[in-house]
Amino acid sequence: MSKTFKIGGVHPHDSKFSRNCAIEVLPLPQTVYISMAQHLGAPAVPCVAVGDKVKAGQVIAEPAPRALSAYVHSSVSGTVKSIGPRKDIAGNNQNHIEILVEGDEWAEGIDLSTDLVTTIPTDRAEVLKKIQMGGVVGLGGATFPAHVKLNPPAGSKAECLILNGAECEPFLTSDNRIMIERSKEIVVGAAIMQMVLGGCPCVIGIEENKPEAIAAMNKAVSELGYPGISVMVLMKKYPQGGEKQLINAVMGREVGSGALPISAGAVVQNVATSLAVYEAVQKNKPLVTNTMTITGDCLPVEKQHNYLFRIGMPLSWIAEYAGGVPEGAAKVVSGGPMMGRAISNLDACTVKGSSSLLYLSEKTTKRAAQSNCIRCGKCAEACPMGLEPFLLNKLAKNGMMDELEANAVQDCISCGCCQFSCPACIPLLDTINIAKGQVLGILRARAAAAKAAAEAAKASQK
Ligand code: SF4
Ligand code: SF4
Repeated sequence: MSKTFKIGGVHPHDSKFSRNCAIEVLPLPQTVYISMAQHLGAPAVPCVAVGDKVKAGQVIAEPAPRALSAYVHSSVSGTVKSIGPRKDIAGNNQNHIEILVEGDEWAEGIDLSTDLVTTIPTDRAEVLKKIQMGGVVGLGGATFPAHVKLNPPAGSKAECLILNGAECEPFLTSDNRIMIERSKEIVVGAAIMQMVLGGCPCVIGIEENKPEAIAAMNKAVSELGYPGISVMVLMKKYPQGGEKQLINAVMGREVGSGALPISAGAVVQNVATSLAVYEAVQKNKPLVTNTMTITGDCLPVEKQHNYLFRIGMPLSWIAEYAGGVPEGAAKVVSGGPMMGRAISNLDACTVKGSSSLLYLSEKTTKRAAQSNCIRCGKCAEACPMGLEPFLLNKLAKNGMMDELEANAVQDCISCGCCQFSCPACIPLLDTINIAKGQVLGILRARAAAAKAAAEAAKASQK
């Protein structure tokens, strides 16, 4: 029987309509707008000026000093037209570099051939540097800089590298397609990360609703023959791809409240990140492309696509190229229907972690009228973090921050399982998300105050 995580979870229809759409390469637009905030951490700092000529793959922004941050590269060749604030997918003003596209010239040293490079380098520090210089970030949603995650702190040891090929969000099929079409590159990327982590085993977790991807990845693992890499078939259950849920399914271990996966001996990376690691290390190609799905329940299958896009492409341009926003679309989402973000502004541009343009009909998005809680407990049964969403909702409505913290609202992974299961159609996720943000703010301020007090005490002892 396929493995899965133990607590909670739900079974939405998977709606993987675009699963058989092979990846197509998008042509270049006239202009791209490349965000400086495409990763978890501080925005990158531009290192080019208006009027500069740039090539695809050239560094255009460096990591913010003394902070978690990442390199950003140009995805096209052309001229820098402007640098300034522009709204991103979330509607926030972020610094963007606007580049007018001229031709398609790549920076020197980047290998754009399809030749597979299978020899695994052995210089760990050099490989980590290449991953950092390539601007590689986690592509499973969190966009955490990969070189940091692959370098566990002293005293902790990676016992298992887990590649996340679950793609448990309904509709999305880009990971499915790269596992079918780029399986060998993903496995080489896994072997590189194994080397960096000291040779721990690697398990590639894939949900059972992707038989072609499972077959392709098994074939690649067997043909390449690297030691300690295997494919594990997982049950189709949402949120199977959640980091803590995946660790539980694969290793049978729990990650404690507030703890990192490495505390359970795990390092989790998405299959798309593994492909990006392969390209950065073996081909010298930085992370300037990724794959996204154009799909939805109001889009005929023949108009659905999986596209290889370059970062900075305007979503409006991609939507237009794909045939326009369908008439029946009540909502356009970036990401999946459970955790994705509704887009109000299609002028926003793709970033490293973009995964979809999802068109949802009114039938799918319309919420039934909300009624009172009937204390059925279904939200608590569905919560994969073992929380009590009905209680968190009540505490949030009453602004009870201490009680919210005591009931671990900060552990919520915003998966939406509670809201999906609630027969009273209570918007639990929205309320809990706001409360979580407030509690996390309090926790951060408390930690900063404690750090400042400790530093002051240390200084006074000198
Ligand atoms: S959104 Fe949060 S509270 Fe709701 S089911 Fe997911 S983890 Fe639990
Ligand atoms: S699922 Fe909805 S109705 Fe049932 S206990 Fe939770 S909040 Fe109340």
